[in-house]
Amino acid sequence: MKVLTALDGGVSQPYEIEGETVTFDLRPGQKILNVLITDPPEELRIAVRVDEKGKPFVARQGLLTGVDGLALSACPLTETAGDTYGAVLRTDGRAVRVASRYPYGRDGLEKLICDTGGGDGCRWQVRRKAHRQVATFEFGEDDGRKPMHYFIAGEDAWETAGTWTADGMVRILASGDALAESFKARCLVRIVPLASPYSATREKASYTTLEDQGLYGAATWGDAPPPPEYDLIRADVEEAIARRRLAFMLTLHSWQAQSESTGLETVKSAGHNALSAERVEWAGHVLETLIAGVPHGKTSFPQKIWHPGLARDYLLAAHDVITFRVEVTTAGQGYDGFRDTARRFLENVLRVEDWSPVYGADR
Ligand SMILES: [Zn+2]
Repeated sequence: MKVLTALDGGVSQPYEIEGETVTFDLRPGQKILNVLITDPPEELRIAVRVDEKGKPFVARQGLLTGVDGLALSACPLTETAGDTYGAVLRTDGRAVRVASRYPYGRDGLEKLICDTGGGDGCRWQVRRKAHRQVATFEFGEDDGRKPMHYFIAGEDAWETAGTWTADGMVRILASGDALAESFKARCLVRIVPLASPYSATREKASYTTLEDQGLYGAATWGDAPPPPEYDLIRADVEEAIARRRLAFMLTLHSWQAQSESTGLETVKSAGHNALSAERVEWAGHVLETLIAGVPHGKTSFPQKIWHPGLARDYLLAAHDVITFRVEVTTAGQGYDGFRDTARRFLENVLRVEDWSPVYGADR
């Protein structure tokens, strides 16, 4: 039996193999794990060591395992000692993938492009800057007037439930079904499923620079300039704002199973800008409309953002524009839940009649 990390986004934490058991140490916190275990015994025993912060992941999500390539499912873990939780996997001697998050890296993005490219009105482009690149999918014909919606996932590369949700949106819109057709007739949509494909192959949870430095990339929207991927995305969004075309912008993140809810949020103030009573009422109504039917959905609408430099903070402060964020949970849901979340958001976006209050009065 061997533990391999030679796969897209492969990351191992300290481990030991003892007989038919592999024990991974995911302390402190909830460390990222994404390995392939080759030549396993028929009954493979996996154990993970976690601390208090890692326990919600164990209790609400479990470990993600699969013996048939890419399809992983959540495997519940049971307590075997104070800080150790375990599971027994039937392998039939086949290699087993074991992960702490639903993996999504460059291979996921490539598969999405191959599965949807050339599909019904699906266009994609890869833009490059400073040795980095970003893939954007676009749907709907641009008549110069339609509202433009932006979905941006993978700002924090390992928050993969958000990326799987964006992946689901691309697949729905490329499918040509009734929802896809009405969406494309009424809107222009741009989707960035994985803002930083390079970072997704590193063990850092957020953004990895060319110098291998880990950054909280999502909070660099106000930097001059931001890291290359954010710079490309920001320029695109700001062009839509300058043309007063931006409608719904959503960044998709995930606290994994740290939260039991899929939380949708925007903020009431940033920099010198604060929403008027009318815009607060509009945004509150939009939050409720958008979250309807989303599995485990809830909303929040705080006065200020909890960390400066995030997209909502920067865009409200610099342009007086309202944008949104969601944290997709992995507590009690996997791929089906992410796809369901994708479909619900697309359906709900069409129920919002008026996006003009995205902009402040002086624009
Ligand atoms: Zn995040």
